[in-house]
Amino acid sequence: MANMAGRYKTTEQDPKVRARNFDEVSLGFDEETARLEAQRCLNCKNPKCMEGCPVGVKIPTFIKALAEGRNADAIAVIKETSNLPGVCGRVCPQETQCEARCVREGKLGGAVAIGALERFAADYAAKHGDSAVPEIKKIGKRVAVVGSGPAGLTCAADLARAGVDVTVYEAFHKAGGVLTYGIPEFRLPKALVQREIDGLSEMGVNIELNTVVGKSVYLDELREEYDAVFIGSGAGLPMFMNIPGENLGGVYSANEFLTRVNLMKAYLPDSTTPVQRGKVVVVVGAGNVAMDSARTALRLGADKVYIMYRRSRDEMPARREEIFHAEEEGVELMLLTNPVEIVGEHSVEGVKAVKMELGEPDASGRRRPVVVPGSEFILPCDQVIMALGTSPNPLIRKSAPDLSVTPRGTLMTNADTLETSVDGVYAGGDAVTGAATVILAMGAGKKAAKAILERFNAVH
Ligand code: FAD
Ligand code: SF4
Repeated sequence: MANMAGRYKTTEQDPKVRARNFDEVSLGFDEETARLEAQRCLNCKNPKCMEGCPVGVKIPTFIKALAEGRNADAIAVIKETSNLPGVCGRVCPQETQCEARCVREGKLGGAVAIGALERFAADYAAKHGDSAVPEIKKIGKRVAVVGSGPAGLTCAADLARAGVDVTVYEAFHKAGGVLTYGIPEFRLPKALVQREIDGLSEMGVNIELNTVVGKSVYLDELREEYDAVFIGSGAGLPMFMNIPGENLGGVYSANEFLTRVNLMKAYLPDSTTPVQRGKVVVVVGAGNVAMDSARTALRLGADKVYIMYRRSRDEMPARREEIFHAEEEGVELMLLTNPVEIVGEHSVEGVKAVKMELGEPDASGRRRPVVVPGSEFILPCDQVIMALGTSPNPLIRKSAPDLSVTPRGTLMTNADTLETSVDGVYAGGDAVTGAATVILAMGAGKKAAKAILERFNAVH
């Protein structure tokens, strides 16, 4: 008999306390609450939740295992299809995917907390030990994967599981892509990311760090050496507004700011690569990256952090939970406001901005913001972080002219196989879609792995 109670809540650090530390914000479920929440699942015959999961996690099966206290079985079920359960349980936008489709959503006390349960299962395995890696029979094929973000890691995991020898080439000195250098520690602990990457190494995946494809080694060399190549190089090139003052000291791209803090640990007192700690910080943009930058600036000691966004709250692309957490911690949203200049002599002294109002819908379907005449003002500040989106780094496509690209600079692929214009070279994740989500990148890694295995006639 299912538990008909309302959705159980996870516990969190107090907003005032957590706004000044880098420890994880959400503390997840304890074992008893996880079991009670799992018992809310109706184990539907036709589970709508699974239709919302791009990697096809067997949601009712793993939740049933948790409901019956078989926690180790739960993680084994998830791992059949996902190699990053602790990551997905934390950062996937479940509210628009699996949970949005749960039959309990909007009635019956709300959707089952699928994400929090996935996280619980992953954390339980981390604490109590994981299932052993199954023995893998090699099939005599070799694949190179470019980039160790969720797309590359997932493609590598699925290929390795099928017996392919996989080598991942990663430009940075640490694997994980945005999971390691972008999403902050307080949302996604790096030890957990490393643990899930170690799982891949245990499966025999070889990870070559500090190797930039297009510089240290060329794509055509990889194509010659391997039976196939997968490109999951992401979209790490930051965009700017091209307004006066963007070259002043104290102006950062969110990408540089977060990389310095996450990857280079700039928040530690003995860091050799420190980052400027602004006192009054303006973050421009309203996506997850903007929320992460604002909350990171607070944790580095800012007295005041503003999010400046030219549209209204309804159009903010960040997850609702991230906006809620940011506001709870004291970040102030300055909506319908657009910067026109960053002012200062050598370094930032303020942002000149104008007020906006919403007009007719534009090509994106969202109402176009238009300037309110005479509304210009200067907001004094000493740091500006531009979180306006990113595009794929042109390095690979420039060094491999046969790769077809879209006018946006993303790689063109066959929609069914994810093969690029170069025979045997596949691509997926942000490098193909532009900045998107972890789970979509993972879904693409899976799809490409399947197509590569079909190429090898090795689909199980
Ligand atoms: P990436 O994660 O970008 O990985 C690409 C990897 O390729 C990198 O490690 C890079 O160093 C490497 N690489 C690039 N070029 C080369 C080269 N030439 N040679 C070798 N290696 C190379 N998504 C969510 O679902 N939920 C969130 O909460 C969320 N928050 C985010 C917060 C931030 C700050 C950012 C930046 C993104 C966030 N996203 C979130 C988006 C999500 O992280 C990305 O969509 C996802 O990581 C894309 O995966 P990927 O594997 O395609 O690329
Ligand atoms: Fe359980 Fe909701 Fe999925 Fe039904 S739709 S199986 S209730 S999680």
